Amino acid sequence: MLEVIVSPITGFCFGVKRAMRLIAEGLGNGGRTIYSIGDVIHNSQAVEDLKSRGVIPVSSMDELSEGDTLIIRAHGVMPDLIEEARGKGIELIDTTCPFVQKSQKYVRQMAYEGRKVIIIGDSSHPEVRAISGQAGPAPVIISTLEEAKAVKGIDRAGVVIQTTLSREKAMRIIGQLEDNIPDLRVHDTICQATVLRREATLELARDVDMVLVVGGKGSSNTKRLFQMCIDEGITARFIETADEIDPSWFKDGDRIGLTTGTSTPDWVIDDVLARLREISDC
Ligand code: SF4
Repeated sequence: MLEVIVSPITGFCFGVKRAMRLIAEGLGNGGRTIYSIGDVIHNSQAVEDLKSRGVIPVSSMDELSEGDTLIIRAHGVMPDLIEEARGKGIELIDTTCPFVQKSQKYVRQMAYEGRKVIIIGDSSHPEVRAISGQAGPAPVIISTLEEAKAVKGIDRAGVVIQTTLSREKAMRIIGQLEDNIPDLRVHDTICQATVLRREATLELARDVDMVLVVGGKGSSNTKRLFQMCIDEGITARFIETADEIDPSWFKDGDRIGLTTGTSTPDWVIDDVLARLREISDC
């Protein structure tokens, strides 16, 4: 028998729930096709489900024509893409998370004031790319303490942080920037939804033999949740779907904790729980 304990914070976060609601409203009663550039969220199961309901990912604006409808994903997009869409007569459904919009507003304001904008985050992440597009000339994007040490010769700057970054890591980087930059304004734009999820996972981990982290393999907040478990010495497995569970991971009497990324749909969680019940009953 296995005992499964589910974290009190699982499934879609506020921003993803909101995006899904706006997309459902955009789809209306069915029969309509709307488009996204790239995946709307970093979860293959949710993307496949949306496809079956009429949300089609495309790789560029060239595939769209006047009158089409385009989703701006929760991570936001570069402003020039929005301008291009408007110029082509494309209707927009903007699902950019309000917390990401806040970061975008801060960088626009700081760029307007003539501050060099520094973004702490992963330069390849869509949220960071979208924010950098609003940050004035040549924003600095850093993700490590070493990169922060190399930031020199800037007198006046402003910082925002990728919403899903670990606060501890970000604060270490900011400490270093404060040593190098005399006038530094810091906006703590880390999303509380991800902080609370990490705290709940750590709390859960104290009481179980293993933590199962469920979420998209391309989801940065899920990867960070898993990495946090590993860094804390917690036995953890990262799965995207129930099919990936290997019964040999468990022994009779184990207590298994379950946590998820912010873009993991409830039905994926239900499938994982059903598979764990099956294994437990064997
Ligand atoms: S993790 Fe936070 S910032 Fe990202 S979509 Fe969810 S609520 Fe918004």
